[in-house]
Amino acid sequence: MGLAEIEARIRKAEAEAGRAAGSVKLVAVSKVQPLERVEAVLEEGHRLFGENKVQEAAGKWPTLRARYPDVVLHLVGPLQTNKARQAMELFDRIETVDRPKLARTLARLRDETGQCPELFVQVNTGEEDQKAGVLPKEADALVALCRELELPVVGLMCIPPVEEEPALHFALLAKIAARTGLRELSMGMSADFERAIAQGATSVRVGSGVFGERVYE
Ligand SMILES: *Cc1c(COP(=O)(O)O)cnc(C)c1O
Repeated sequence: MGLAEIEARIRKAEAEAGRAAGSVKLVAVSKVQPLERVEAVLEEGHRLFGENKVQEAAGKWPTLRARYPDVVLHLVGPLQTNKARQAMELFDRIETVDRPKLARTLARLRDETGQCPELFVQVNTGEEDQKAGVLPKEADALVALCRELELPVVGLMCIPPVEEEPALHFALLAKIAARTGLRELSMGMSADFERAIAQGATSVRVGSGVFGERVYE
């Protein structure tokens, strides 16, 4: 485990899928990880990170960014509208746009501030009650709304149900992206990123594989 091994496995999966070397980006998901592990990965030269909570990211990344100004940060967890303004300031990309209300809030704040991170629509491919994401049958309409609002929507993201074969969910996400004309796919985590690459992932979100197991206190 660790950054070098995950990078090597990504390159191998790209080759096996007939994809260009370097076409899949690694989002290192640093939530809950001790600061020294995050700093070690930054020292190894990695710059693309993901966090799932606005508050937690606000507590650590402004300081780290002062030292590593070329860091790129993605929000990969659910976003409440009352944290949207803060999220737009902190993150370079929000991967979890999942409802019309949030899209409208982002558009209003974009009008007010003149800036907006790149956006992904999160799709709840497993239609799980407890999971964030728009339902597959409502995804096209949400993408259309984002475009109507002139939001910079560039891709789709999903988190498959733990009990199911993820490849089916990755294939479904790729299908929705193709029919809505979106080029980027954020899918695959530590346990299944190679299968996601085989299905067309353009970025994978790997936490424990890069940093080690998360220890919750
Ligand atoms: C935590 C998290 C990940 C990384 O999970 P690992 O299994 O540790 O690789 C990926 N995506 C999201 C949305 C997460 O919250």
